[in-house]
Amino acid sequence: MLNGPGSQRDHVVVMGAGPAGLTAAYELNKHGVAVTVLEQDPKYVGGIARTVEHNGYRFDIGGHRFFSKNQEVEDLWTEILGEEMLTRGRLSRIYYRGRYFDYPLKATNALLNLGLLETARCMSSYALARVSPVREPRTFEDWVSNQFGKRLFEIFFKTYTEKVWGIPTSELSADWAAQRIKGLDLFEVMKNALLPHRNGNGNGDRGAVIKTLIDQFRYPRLGPGQMWERVVELLSESGAHVRMGEKIVAIERDGSGVTALRTEGGESVPGTGFISSLPIRKLVMALHPAAPDEVLAAAKALRYRDFLTVALVIDRAEMFPDNWVYIHEPGVKVGRLQNFKNWSPHMVADGSKTCIGLEYFCFEGDGLWSADDADLVKLATSELAELGMCRPEEVVDGVVVRVPKAYPVYDDEYQRHVATIRDYLGAAVPNLHLVGRNGMHKYNNQDHSMMTALVVARNIATGAGLDPWKVNTDAEYHEEARDTELERSGRQAPRRLEIAS
Ligand SMILES: Cc1cc2nc3c(=O)[nH]c(=O)nc-3n(C[C@H](O)[C@H](O)[C@H](O)COP(=O)(O)OP(=O)(O)OC[C@H]3O[C@@H](n4cnc5c(N)ncnc54)[C@H](O)[C@@H]3O)c2cc1C
Repeated sequence: MLNGPGSQRDHVVVMGAGPAGLTAAYELNKHGVAVTVLEQDPKYVGGIARTVEHNGYRFDIGGHRFFSKNQEVEDLWTEILGEEMLTRGRLSRIYYRGRYFDYPLKATNALLNLGLLETARCMSSYALARVSPVREPRTFEDWVSNQFGKRLFEIFFKTYTEKVWGIPTSELSADWAAQRIKGLDLFEVMKNALLPHRNGNGNGDRGAVIKTLIDQFRYPRLGPGQMWERVVELLSESGAHVRMGEKIVAIERDGSGVTALRTEGGESVPGTGFISSLPIRKLVMALHPAAPDEVLAAAKALRYRDFLTVALVIDRAEMFPDNWVYIHEPGVKVGRLQNFKNWSPHMVADGSKTCIGLEYFCFEGDGLWSADDADLVKLATSELAELGMCRPEEVVDGVVVRVPKAYPVYDDEYQRHVATIRDYLGAAVPNLHLVGRNGMHKYNNQDHSMMTALVVARNIATGAGLDPWKVNTDAEYHEEARDTELERSGRQAPRRLEIAS
């Protein structure tokens, strides 16, 4: 149910001070609505898009590019940070067997790097896949091997995909590969690399726009957290409250809707309207009185992939020119390296040093997640040395940041579960509104989170009557689109196949 400008706007309580929660608060504040934000973190705002500071070195939880097809979001970023928003060039490559491969892949560069022998192997395995493909490919591995040959699959697709999702590619569904890699055909790649390019691409300006999105992005001078820290300053200046270290543990409700939020400290924070950017699973489990069993079961069935970053300070002025590097080496656990100095030179305290973020994908509670910080710093140091990036004794400092629920997982059932929860909440607690990434279980970027927040804030403030679920993954509002189309147009995450045991 969408809400009109009734009593809900008297005092809105926002759960979570990430991009979605703070954008909602910022917009409500502009409309003169009294707003309080509760954030569990004692220090940082920005959620997954925060910038952590350690001994003067600043780093992201994964590097955060600021780009959006939605001009309103771009304008909002400019409004908040003005000239503090830098325009940066993008360089990101794949590292494999001591060599850097362009990403997106370029045929000539890939073939030169692989060398004659390996190239010959790749071509013959590609030829084999053409003449004798796996009939009716069900798995990611079969689908990609059919498309590129087994050898190229192993080099460029297998290792990284398995690191990110924690599932063997022989157990991931083929439809995800088809969705992600559609239109990329090795023959076309080769042809484009070897034949001279024609001027113009038949797409008008679109090609140029896409190229710009790929080659450049905006980035706050002091990292993404700067954006969200500035929003908090602006909110405080106009009397809105962002309360840090306030973990919401219960959502109190009566027959007509949510009445108050209970914090871990035992305080009850009343309100008339409520906006949640909390993971849906957490939100539903916190309802008091509890939701019916089928709604609780739907919430418990939602799954997540977790993530941790080990930031190391290295006593070297330069390491590699990329913003980030995908690590396809099978022998190491690290999935990606971020070089924060290349995102903005202001991210490092001392220009004679470099700060590298080593990203590890994991599940909460698994071996990596539960390892001691000191052991993780040791692991990251030894893996960086194994990759030939630096010597262990050059690492002068290290710190670990764990991010639970970094990725909402799209499995076969998640849409059904989210629909069950949405229907129930819409009917039982119509003054509670869901926004954002885990708040709506959407594998999104900040712009999508922000747009859903703007829509919800306007509904509360003005009775705009818009549906936040109609914001697609490009952060554009599509009145006519149905959910399934929105999902298909978005970033996809793979699903595990049912394998007979
Ligand atoms: C590795 C990685 C790389 C990414 N790269 C990019 C990128 O390049 N560009 C881009 O635009 N986006 C990127 N994203 C996505 C971006 O981080 C998210 O879209 C964005 O942070 C989502 O904002 P949100 O406010 O919806 O959720 P979150 O950022 O998750 O914020 C939710 C907030 O709620 C708080 N909270 C949770 N539970 C409670 C509770 N019980 N009580 C009180 N507070 C609570 C959390 O502490 C958090 O602050 C990336 C994400 C990842 C994981």
